[in-house]
Amino acid sequence: MAAVAISPGRKGTARLVEVPRPEPGPNQVLVRVLQVGIDGTDRELHQGLYGEAPDGADQLIIGHESLGRIVETGAEVERFQPGDLVVATVRRPCAGNCPNCARGHFDSCGTGNYRERGIRALDGYLAEYYVEDPRFLIGIPPELAHVAVLIEPLSIVEKLLAQSFAIQLRLEWEPRRVLVLGAGCIGLLATAVLRLLGFETCALDRVEESHLKACLARRTGAAYLRSDGSLRVAAGQFDFITEATGFGEFTFQAIPLLAINGVLAICGVSGGNRQMQIPCDTLNMEMVLGNRVVFGCVNSSATHFRDAAGHLRDIEGRWPGLLGSMITRRLGFAGFAEALDPEPPSGIKTVIDLCEPSY
Ligand code: BGC
Ligand code: ZN
Repeated sequence: MAAVAISPGRKGTARLVEVPRPEPGPNQVLVRVLQVGIDGTDRELHQGLYGEAPDGADQLIIGHESLGRIVETGAEVERFQPGDLVVATVRRPCAGNCPNCARGHFDSCGTGNYRERGIRALDGYLAEYYVEDPRFLIGIPPELAHVAVLIEPLSIVEKLLAQSFAIQLRLEWEPRRVLVLGAGCIGLLATAVLRLLGFETCALDRVEESHLKACLARRTGAAYLRSDGSLRVAAGQFDFITEATGFGEFTFQAIPLLAINGVLAICGVSGGNRQMQIPCDTLNMEMVLGNRVVFGCVNSSATHFRDAAGHLRDIEGRWPGLLGSMITRRLGFAGFAEALDPEPPSGIKTVIDLCEPSY
């Protein structure tokens, strides 16, 4: 079967490869891949900045945002049937003595020896087929198929919100005003969910007010704030801020924007190595005197994928077509190299469509 692989650690090695079609074991299913979303992590993998090949291999099949259809089930599989649509989770447990992995919370693996499909030490989904254990798959109703490839990125938002609310069980928290830094795919999904929850939401990005990102943010009822590269445009204080740009300076610029008891949740990965000066005593004092929290949040577990599927349906019901408009570019398998180039300035999300053969 065909797949897209890279040589981790080397720049620009993405290529179409021919690999054996995997065979499902008795407890596994064979999935035909229908769609794969491309994000910043895939582009970093392609730049050689990140990623690891499976043990003993010198190449890694990429792709971690997926939608597929089950075509074969192992003899012992009861949960799924051929024809079912599924989205696969990304992270797999470490083999260590890890209380989080032991409880299914691989997203909070404590040893750091987790593996991630399409990213770290496990092949991903940008291939014609993959095999998987059903416990790592989420069933998708057919009416969500057209936008289900957004479930993986939305699961990141779900984890971020669930953890923020869990952290805030430390006090009485009734957030009202929220700020989303970045109106890319994750930022817009966060904006939509925060609007579903009824918060007064501001979404901030660098693009012009007429850009699709700004229009989609406003369509949810959020205010769009155009940034000049700083957070000066964000006036007042916010009970909840999420950083989804990966621009490290924003994290420190955002702390003074937090209201008393506020939470700043960071999910944007900053690949660079920039330095900045910060007013450390003031920030320290504000954090302490205002009971403020800043925390980082990565990956997501099956629960967050299920929450994401629920919210995907709600978003589609409340703002029909909004999710579909976020997919600004659809390419075929052969367009993988173009997909791994930076997102065009007018774009939001690139998806690779793999044609479904007739069986
Ligand atoms: C993925 C996560 C993953 C993270 C770090 C993100 O792009 O969505 O599942 O944990 O990269 O590898
Ligand atoms: Zn672990």
